Amino acid sequence: MTKFVYTFGGKTAEGNATMKNELGGKGANLAEMCLLKLPVPAGLTITTECCTAYYKNNCQLPAGLMDEVHAGMKNMEDIMGMKYGDPENPLLVSCRSGARKSMPGMMDTVLNIGLCSKTIPGLIKKTNNPRFVYDSYRRLIMMYADVVMEKAEGIEPADGKSIRKQLDDMLDAYKEKKGYKSDTDLKAEELQQLAEDFKVRIKEVLGTEFPDDAEAQLEGGIKAVFKSWNGKKAISYRRIEGIPDDWGTAVNVQTMVFGNMGEGSATGVAFTRNPATGDNQFYGEWLVNAQGEDVVAGIRTPNPLNDETKNEQNKHMHSMQELMPETYKELCEVRRILEENYHDMLDVEFTIQDGKLYMLQCRVGKRTGVAALTMALDMMKEGLIDEKEVVMRLSPEQLDELLHPILDAEDEKKHDVIAKGLPAGPGGAVGRIALTIEKAKEYNDAKITNILVREETNPEDVEGMRAADGILTARGGMTSHAALVARGWGKCCIVGCDAVKIDLEKGIVRIGDKQFKEGDVISLNGSKGWIYAEPVGMIKSTENPLFQQFMKLVDKYRKMGVRTNADNPIDAQKAIDFGAEGIGLFRIEHMFYGENSEKPLEILRNMILANSRAERVAALEQLEPYFLESAKKTLRVMDGKPLTFRLMDPPLHEFAPQGSKKMQETARRLHLSIEEVQKRVAKLHEVNPMMGLRGVRLGIIYPEITRVQFRALFSATCELMKEGLNPMLEIMVPLTINAAELKHQKAIATELKAEVEAKYGIKFNYKFGTMIEIPRAALVANQIAEVAEFFSFGTNDLTQMTYGFSRDDVNAIVKTYVDEKIIPADPFNSFDRECVGELVKIGVQRGRSTRPNLKCGVCGEHGGDPTASEFFYKAGMNYVSCSPFRVPVARLAAAQAAIKEERGK
Ligand code: ADP
Ligand code: MG
Ligand code: MG
Repeated sequence: MTKFVYTFGGKTAEGNATMKNELGGKGANLAEMCLLKLPVPAGLTITTECCTAYYKNNCQLPAGLMDEVHAGMKNMEDIMGMKYGDPENPLLVSCRSGARKSMPGMMDTVLNIGLCSKTIPGLIKKTNNPRFVYDSYRRLIMMYADVVMEKAEGIEPADGKSIRKQLDDMLDAYKEKKGYKSDTDLKAEELQQLAEDFKVRIKEVLGTEFPDDAEAQLEGGIKAVFKSWNGKKAISYRRIEGIPDDWGTAVNVQTMVFGNMGEGSATGVAFTRNPATGDNQFYGEWLVNAQGEDVVAGIRTPNPLNDETKNEQNKHMHSMQELMPETYKELCEVRRILEENYHDMLDVEFTIQDGKLYMLQCRVGKRTGVAALTMALDMMKEGLIDEKEVVMRLSPEQLDELLHPILDAEDEKKHDVIAKGLPAGPGGAVGRIALTIEKAKEYNDAKITNILVREETNPEDVEGMRAADGILTARGGMTSHAALVARGWGKCCIVGCDAVKIDLEKGIVRIGDKQFKEGDVISLNGSKGWIYAEPVGMIKSTENPLFQQFMKLVDKYRKMGVRTNADNPIDAQKAIDFGAEGIGLFRIEHMFYGENSEKPLEILRNMILANSRAERVAALEQLEPYFLESAKKTLRVMDGKPLTFRLMDPPLHEFAPQGSKKMQETARRLHLSIEEVQKRVAKLHEVNPMMGLRGVRLGIIYPEITRVQFRALFSATCELMKEGLNPMLEIMVPLTINAAELKHQKAIATELKAEVEAKYGIKFNYKFGTMIEIPRAALVANQIAEVAEFFSFGTNDLTQMTYGFSRDDVNAIVKTYVDEKIIPADPFNSFDRECVGELVKIGVQRGRSTRPNLKCGVCGEHGGDPTASEFFYKAGMNYVSCSPFRVPVARLAAAQAAIKEERGK
């Protein structure tokens, strides 16, 4: 028979920390803490497999499970010296959920199970503390009614009518009637009375009695935890986090220990290091005479754990270090043992019963990007982890967080925080207050940094939000519009700051007790939600020496190169600053867009509308100096680093004059009638332009287009060499389907190389390669590699061609496909390893079968996707190429792929 129950307690355990899949995170770590001889109340864990069996079995507990549970309970009773359901010396338990991955707050826990009319008197006698017993009893009733009798039964009460809310309201009403402020003011008899009232209400509302029997309570608790796996909250959380439905949850049945036994008892949560900053300080909160969720539920303001971490809000309150110095020391020792064993920062839950410390939970703690960085490097210094582990400790998202400019922490210390809101968007911002969208745009146009301050934002405000350097709102939560938009852009943003009061008519805003006019400067720390009344210094987080130290380690273990997609000197320089080792994709077409593009675009239009080769050549010759200048500027910045230049790719009609005004202009310029222009534009029309006259086809139909590009690029190279620079030109041909196309283009290149070398009187080297973006090209890669010296996989087009999805129009279809689970994800966003990936692998393999040292890279959007990095690395890519801002993330992902591969061996 399958073993469903694992025991722990008495400084030993059947499980351990590696058994998260079987025991869930909580169960595995409880077992591990026992093995570490830490004080853990004895218990047992029912496996996740049992949960799966329970669901397969039509929501019936598998046969024999309760026998196993009883055997495990016997073990607990022996260790703890108490007996479950015993009238003299009753043991109480909690039923706790715990999945493989932590799903905070998503599933349910019931405490104080086993209290009933048979056991209450015994517990009162034993503890001589009736108040504690009835406090525990009323908590059991509240939790049990909520979790077991309502939620697990699938009852869906109307808004505000849940049994939990009704009982909470009764409690509040009672406290109000008596003039009590805190739960702890309630006396034993009052709690007893409340418990009786609760039971009556439960019968009224739910139609069933609260079970007055320990055994029934236990079985109800176990089933309810299993059921909570399929609660609404838990299901939607799993969708977002991508946790499979069939994992199931474990159930931990654990001996209760009590933080609510009086002034010598307490409960708390702590992080072994500060999870926001990463500082090596024990950081936590605790409450005297409290149980379970009291600390996080916000019913009472919790006290600070120690003096070191007191803050503005709790500095007047007593720390555990002050009130229970001995137990605090013990807890510090637990902290040390845990970090030494897990080599990581953990969060822990603990309870103190009459001065005795018990550990109830530990797990690797969540942290901000800054904290992850600080901790990893500290732990390396402390000898807890090695260099490779440091590299593994920051997720690509956490690194991304670090790339935003931040307030200088040293300077922050010199200013007072005037108000706090929710930290919705990372980084820092310093700027003038803008109260309207118009004002934000006005400032932005004048290049004045500004902070948009609003009641709340809605989708119409997007332009102003873009124009702002930071956003501050009075209302809204972490998932409000402003927060979502800001995080999407990586923009500094604080939301839900009640202290902000805006008077638009007067053009003033109060923040806390300070008043500001529009135009006054404030500072935001979006990572913490803090607001300052003056300008605070900012630093690029990449200037942070820790960041630099970290990236050095990243590069030490990285084997795959990282290049950038850039087509102007500014982006190229930015990418180099971020560590790019070359340009993987330079699109020449950029010179026909945006600033200073009027003239070249005009000439391009003349070329497109040319009626004869002679006309076309004439226009191209006019374009040549623009090609040359554009290439030269960026090649100069990239001195000594490779730059992959892509020959003209898009269908020409994209640049044709559109609309009557543009057509008239063109007609005037070319001395043609407007009808003639219309006729020529119409001739360019293609039914499927993306599959028509574009890419290499342009250069084969109109070889003069290729000629002028080669000549310009080669000339740029020679001119820079004459200046003593080292341009490393690579030219790639787009949209290739076979080797013949490449041979055709290569012949032109060879001819022009000789011509340009003769003109400048120097010899130069360059590389000739191709993009692989049509499935056919991947399949005949062995032939193509006879001509091409390198491959660059254009995964956007390759995805488009593999799926037959037009990436410009297919959005709505893809969305439905994903919703209907026809395909798992949008292949343009998340790289399709199965098929597009297979073509990439085939392309690399076949290409290298002809040319073993063939250089291969990826230049599609997917090149910047850290989740695809490992795949590209394993496929044998020499580099990935991505937008400048993604370069550090790509470096990290590449290093992690290399370390993972090594560890797999
Ligand atoms: P979650 O997974 O939501 O954190 P837990 O199972 O950790 O839920 O339970 C919530 C809280 O209940 C714990 O933080 C702890 O304070 C309290 N608790 C759970 N089991 C026990 C127990 N055996 N003794 C005392 N308190 C407990
Ligand atoms: Mg917990
Ligand atoms: Mg392409």
